[in-house]
Amino acid sequence: MSILLDVQDLVVKFRLRAGDLTALNGINFTLTPGERMGLVGESGAGKSVAGFSIINLISKPGFIASGRVLFEGEEISAYPLEQMRDIRGNRISMIFQDPMMTLNPVLTIGTQMVETIRAHSRVSAAHAREIALEKLSKVYISSPGKRLGQYPHELSGGMRQRVVIAISLLTNPSLIIADEPTTALDVTIQAEVMALLLELCKNEQMGLILITHDLGVVSQVTEKIAVMYAGRIVEQGPTAHIVTSPHHPYTQGLIKALPQGSEQQRRLYQIPGMMPNLTSIPAGCAFHPRCEQAMDICRQEAPTLCATPQAQCLVACHLFRS
Ligand code: SF4
Repeated sequence: MSILLDVQDLVVKFRLRAGDLTALNGINFTLTPGERMGLVGESGAGKSVAGFSIINLISKPGFIASGRVLFEGEEISAYPLEQMRDIRGNRISMIFQDPMMTLNPVLTIGTQMVETIRAHSRVSAAHAREIALEKLSKVYISSPGKRLGQYPHELSGGMRQRVVIAISLLTNPSLIIADEPTTALDVTIQAEVMALLLELCKNEQMGLILITHDLGVVSQVTEKIAVMYAGRIVEQGPTAHIVTSPHHPYTQGLIKALPQGSEQQRRLYQIPGMMPNLTSIPAGCAFHPRCEQAMDICRQEAPTLCATPQAQCLVACHLFRS
């Protein structure tokens, strides 16, 4: 089976006066062409850093300290900035939480789309406009011709995110990295946008990395999940297994916190405590201060990823040491 993306032992640090802080601590995963994966965890888990580091979009003082990222067989983590720019927005597209981070408020949608197309390929303005119309139709934007002449502020939030998705499709990428793409939208619009992303990925055979805190969203869209905590992957495997039979106490807590019925919706479960700050990650298993099953060894030794008893998932927890 061919591999689209291969992230190997990736370590990202932030250089501060007090010393280097480790934001990503040796993560590994692969993606095959057209495969959809979720990176899940609370704020500060390192999932956005992981997503950005794939396309080397870590802003200073952050930097990739070690590890490799291979995309379509090329070691893109070793590329100079210019070559990396060619990959970004061309073969790998990024969708951000807030559409206004992507859209320029003083340019019409048409100008932005035509400029993006012509920055990546030698086509006439008229042909670029045709491509823009085709992509807007693909994301089910009503009256696409009219939208090309409008400014971002003239569109609703849901429509703006559809435009951003259309822009991400302009160069026919083989991978989309979507960072909390629906968090800023109403619940009903969220479901529509996620359904659209799923349909596009299936139709266009695009790989997807969906970064989100919402296990519910991920379970509807992805085929596999990596759960992150304090810069590490703590559980990884097929979505169906992780959602129905989570092993790691943190994943179990995330699932318990999902609204499941009217009674639970009134009193949602909360994992006790908070995600540790990068400056004070606890020794041993970083989750131990919040874990109801913590043992002595958990305070001393960081667990590594091991296959679960049924070997369908990987889990980093001393309860499953082989
Ligand atoms: Fe809990 Fe220990 Fe497992 Fe960490 S290693 S999740 S503290 S049982």
